[in-house]
Amino acid sequence: MREFAYERATDAGGAVAAVLADPDAVFLGAGTNLVDHLKLGIIAPGKLVDVSGLPLDQVTQLPDGGVRIGSAVRNADLAAHPAIRARYPMLSAALLAGASAQLRNLATTGGNLLQRTRCLYFQDSTVPCNKREPGSGCSAIGGFDRDHAIFGASEQCIATHPSDMAVAMAGLGAVVRVLSAVGERQIPLVDFYRLPGEAPDRDTVLDHGDLITAVDLPALEWASTSTYRKVRDRASYAFALVSVAAAVDIADGVVRDARIAFGGVAAKPWRAFAAEAHLRGRAATEENFAAAADAELADAHPQRQNGFKIPLARNVLVATLRELSEAR
Ligand code: SF4
Repeated sequence: MREFAYERATDAGGAVAAVLADPDAVFLGAGTNLVDHLKLGIIAPGKLVDVSGLPLDQVTQLPDGGVRIGSAVRNADLAAHPAIRARYPMLSAALLAGASAQLRNLATTGGNLLQRTRCLYFQDSTVPCNKREPGSGCSAIGGFDRDHAIFGASEQCIATHPSDMAVAMAGLGAVVRVLSAVGERQIPLVDFYRLPGEAPDRDTVLDHGDLITAVDLPALEWASTSTYRKVRDRASYAFALVSVAAAVDIADGVVRDARIAFGGVAAKPWRAFAAEAHLRGRAATEENFAAAADAELADAHPQRQNGFKIPLARNVLVATLRELSEAR
């Protein structure tokens, strides 16, 4: 492992300045993903700027009824927070579906958003991978592609994003607050991640020195009827083959509004806008749930080994919507 300098930031502005001053520096949160990458030789920064001790570890109520989640809030604390459990159960459930209890106790909100793909080839520094080493090739194309994308892939990369938390946040319409040298800006989570295109090494729209300070959730009163379903190869400590985060607003048997996002299907949480549009104003029936799923999945393009993800995503979405409609 390459030697690196270590600096412990005491305020957010100082952390941004420290990373900006060194093109070889990166932020260190809890390190649950980054330290693995250091050990595997996936990255070799010259400096770590530790932001885990910044005072960004609070969940606060916003004047408009929404909730602000500091970027240093631990995943376990967020999942257990009374406001999250009561008002955004899909987010609490998604957090509890991720990783192990030990990791959730340590991992932070900001770090969870920035975790990188678990594509086997990305994590093996002895084989080509365009995300790890641009221009080297993609070992998954023509290789083991069972876990990979069915939406938004490119000829450069077909990886999926691993976060469960981000899927629920995308469904809820969360906004990421980012601090840079020129001030703070807000990025809707659905625009925060990039599809791979010609530059799969860039997972997000962040620039060097951009620090996530918080995630804002909208008030969305009816998100109290929401949930998260995750299908994986074993019952715990595994990444999603397909997951669904969904919230529905149903009155008199009719869907007034819906928020749906898929995980495990793309390089970003996949907000299912077509499915949502199909549901609005229609009866909350099994047939309409299936038609909504079909509307979204019409544009799916499976890899050689993961055609199963299309019927799996359809079935999981229909089952999730059925569960929510019965819970009203
Ligand atoms: Fe690398 Fe992406 Fe190909 Fe995986 S799918 S080997 S992450 S370029």
